[in-house]
Amino acid sequence: MKKVIAIDGPSGAGKSSVSKAVAKELGFYYLDTGALYRAVAYHFLKIFGSNKDFTAIPEEEIKKELSNIKIIYDKGEVYLFSENITNLIRDPLVGTATSQLSAKKVIREFLLPLQREFAERHNTVAEGRDMTTVVFPDAWKKFYLDASLEVRAKRRYEQLLSLGKEITFDEALRDICERDERDSKREESPLIKSKDAFYIDTSNLSFDDVIKIVLKKVAEES
Ligand code: C5P
Repeated sequence: MKKVIAIDGPSGAGKSSVSKAVAKELGFYYLDTGALYRAVAYHFLKIFGSNKDFTAIPEEEIKKELSNIKIIYDKGEVYLFSENITNLIRDPLVGTATSQLSAKKVIREFLLPLQREFAERHNTVAEGRDMTTVVFPDAWKKFYLDASLEVRAKRRYEQLLSLGKEITFDEALRDICERDERDSKREESPLIKSKDAFYIDTSNLSFDDVIKIVLKKVAEES
């Protein structure tokens, strides 16, 4: 395995923008593992429709469906078969389905090799919920990015508005609360701060400050 900088944290903590910038600065590849989970959820939404209770689908049925799909992650773009779904997976509907489906063991097992194979080939900044604990427990560097609930909801709200999505602040706040609950309470690979991850509360920090802290930490212990 090449060098991996593993970054975990809850929704809206700033993982994606920080990971991208750190990867660019260091000449590493960026791996957005949330995008892989979103790609799976996007497919299931297409197959089952948005009224489906995804938590209730039996693992066997999911497994069968997974054997039909092909997900490709290339230079930050995500493809389902040959369709580029990078923007489509940002829809809030996909986000909700993703956090329900990502609790399924069979989906986590399906995506695990994809993530590890990526890091076999490239020095990688990998971000998600279980990078430091399950996918890359031996990562070169580990970080846990956090921020207050209000700050994270505000970021999510502004991000979705900038993507042209119709959403109120209260809806963004509710979405973040529900995701926190599901991502941290699930049985499979819950979001937790691993003991050896460096904790950064980004609530009162500028984007540039966070990047500086991460890069300094990376350089310090090299
Ligand atoms: O990071 P992002 O918000 O795109 O992730 C969407 C959802 O995918 C998360 O709420 C979480 O449920 C799931 N996820 C996960 N494990 C990861 C990355 C994302 O369970 N490594």
